[in-house]
Amino acid sequence: MDSTTNNAGKDRTMIEEYRDDNFGCWHDTDEEEVREFYHNVQSRSVWKICSICDEKVKLLPLYDKCNSCMDKMERGQFI
Ligand SMILES: [Zn+2]
Repeated sequence: MDSTTNNAGKDRTMIEEYRDDNFGCWHDTDEEEVREFYHNVQSRSVWKICSICDEKVKLLPLYDKCNSCMDKMERGQFI
C-alpha cells in the first residue's frame, strides 16, 4: 500500500530572490555591485528574533528589528 506523501508544505522554492530582513526588497539587482553588496550583507547576517514581532529573521548583527517592522514604524503603524 502506498502511504500518502506527508509533506507539510515546506517546499519553499529557492529562487534567487533579492530581498532580506535587513532592507526588504532590493532594487537595482541587475548591477553587479548591488548583488555583491547583497551577498555581503547576507553573509554577515545572523539569525535573530525580531525585537518587535518575535519572528526569526536574518539580520545584520547591529540590527534587532526586521524590515517589515521598520517599515511599519516608518509609516507610524506602531505604538
Ligand atoms: Zn519584526
